[in-house]
Amino acid sequence: MSRLIGIDLGTTNSCVAFMENGHAVVIPNAEGGRTTPSVVAFTKSGERLVGAAAKRQAVTNASRTFTSVKRAMGSDTRYQIDGKTYTPQEISAMILQKLKADAENYIGEAVTDAVITVPAYFSDAQRQATKDAGLIAGLNVLRIINEPTSAALAYGFQKGEPRKIMVYDLGGGTFDVSILDLSSDTIEVLATAGNNHLGGDDFDQCIVGYLLDRFRETNHMDLSRDPVAMQRLKEAAEKAKIELSASVSATVNLPFIAQNAGGPLHLETTLSRSRFDELTSHLVEATKGPVLQAMQDAGVRPENLSRVLLVGGSTRIPAVQSMVRKLTGKEPSREINPDECVAMGACLQGGVLTGTLHSLVLIDVTPLSLGIETLGDVFAKIINRNTPLPCQHSQVFTTAANFQTSVEINVLQGEREQASANKSLGKFRLTGIRRALRGIPQIEVTFTIDTNGIVHVSAKDLGTNHMQDITITGSGNMSRQEIDRAVREAEIYAEQDRKKKAETKLLDSAEGLLNQARKARKKLKSEDQSLLDQAVGSLESAVSSKVEYRIRSAMEELEKCLQNCGAYVHPAEGKNEDGSYDA
Ligand code: AMP
Repeated sequence: MSRLIGIDLGTTNSCVAFMENGHAVVIPNAEGGRTTPSVVAFTKSGERLVGAAAKRQAVTNASRTFTSVKRAMGSDTRYQIDGKTYTPQEISAMILQKLKADAENYIGEAVTDAVITVPAYFSDAQRQATKDAGLIAGLNVLRIINEPTSAALAYGFQKGEPRKIMVYDLGGGTFDVSILDLSSDTIEVLATAGNNHLGGDDFDQCIVGYLLDRFRETNHMDLSRDPVAMQRLKEAAEKAKIELSASVSATVNLPFIAQNAGGPLHLETTLSRSRFDELTSHLVEATKGPVLQAMQDAGVRPENLSRVLLVGGSTRIPAVQSMVRKLTGKEPSREINPDECVAMGACLQGGVLTGTLHSLVLIDVTPLSLGIETLGDVFAKIINRNTPLPCQHSQVFTTAANFQTSVEINVLQGEREQASANKSLGKFRLTGIRRALRGIPQIEVTFTIDTNGIVHVSAKDLGTNHMQDITITGSGNMSRQEIDRAVREAEIYAEQDRKKKAETKLLDSAEGLLNQARKARKKLKSEDQSLLDQAVGSLESAVSSKVEYRIRSAMEELEKCLQNCGAYVHPAEGKNEDGSYDA
């Protein structure tokens, strides 16, 4: 049987959960962590690292380590490494592959289906890119859902009584605020607002700026051009920030950060919480506008809110919590770990989709208005923001010039009246319109948004029934062929990873057997010792050759030799019951 997982694919950390006995359970990764850093690195020897291992070596391998890739999803950013070019989707797929492998290891079953979360403010292109990343990782993405919705699901499912709640989600790289309407069996998102370029990374950056200034003042040296020093500063800044959530001051100590004629230079300074609050007050302040906007859009006043949920690691910052308290007049809830509730909600949603859970229905909304460009740079909205999904809306347009036989449909997303001030998601041309005076032809434009928030647009000349349509994939996104190629490459990588693991296991077993032989040797007669030395020598040379069949046969020889000499042999680790070793 294959299992379903819920994935919070975060900017800085990701988390995965599955359903066990009707409850969402967070799956620890292979390293024992409950969240996995969303970091991918390529070592100089070509090995690919994902998660904590990638994060740990980021200082020394800064130029070959990719972080915060989520910020580039749906854009045309490309990552170059060893002559190969990767899209943000492909890098994200490497993170998803690790989460999938860790989940399979933990559950002991194959995982194929997934629900993946995205920030509520993610555009269509970013959602599509996330879905593609899942596909590349070998996952059947059942649904893309908004992170705040998912978090509310984790809370809502456990509580259940009707109410309006606010989800304030400040993660590593994104900020979302949503107003939701929870009843006993539905969760409706009334409004969402946010900023997908605001998060914990920006708080770290403020501390980095502060540390650079301190160092410049004392040493008259600018560290900002030294990538290794910058990576160390970034790590120290995050550590200090986390410390400041629990204590009122943090010490930053970075020995040997630089060198001048006088010898090595060190950075040692103390940052107080009040100074940190001062440095980052504009960031906390920047979350205010979207909070007020979301409440206004939802027609909700602070007194109508029954709960405020805090989601995302950055909501542990005391100044953030006190701002939320001030704005809403409520003590924010943090019963479920803010780093885990999004993944838990995603897997609960998966439970609903696969019929394991029957009591929940989830209604999502479109985060931005959609429409087309019309004459005079005017944006004609066809679907207003915060419309529940899935939805389909049509509007009839006409031609602007006499005898015009084709029109260009420019699909736009945004809130501005001026068409050019909004984001163009794509363009297509409807041809074959019957020749007529301007204003006579009737062109029906239909927008359809599916439950994942993915947009499909069609235009039809009602006179001829001629029709054209597109599914918006975004300019920075990948074609079907590119995705297929990436899927194949990801499978090859997974195969390489499996081989590497099997090779390590075999080498470990050989090493274990050699140790047993060295121990046993002392108790043997001298003629047996020389026989054993020969067998040990062949296994040692087989191990250094790394040739699998040589290692296997030398191991068998050595085992036989030990048995013949009367030295008991423990089955070497990694050996199967039938005496074979895993390939
Ligand atoms: P998330 O995307 O929800 O995993 O949040 C990650 C962000 O939360 C990163 O910027 C972390 O540095 C930040 N973070 C995690 N724990 C804390 C903490 N105790 N205090 C402040 N920020 C934190």
